[in-house]
Amino acid sequence: MASGEILYKCFKCGALIPYGRLKVSPDLKCPECGCKILTKIRPSVVKKIKAI
Ligand SMILES: [Zn+2]
Repeated sequence: MASGEILYKCFKCGALIPYGRLKVSPDLKCPECGCKILTKIRPSVVKKIKAI
C-alpha cells in the first residue's frame, strides 16, 4: 500500500519536487531554478466513512 509522498512546489517556477529528491541536497531549493521558497504540499487523504 503506497503512502502519499510529500511534494514541494517551487514558488517561482512551479516545479513539483518530491521530498526524496530534496533531502539528498544540503539545502532546500528548487533544482530547476534555484529558488529557495518552496511550499510543502501534502497529498490529500481520502477518508472513507462507513455509513451505519
Ligand atoms: Zn523553481
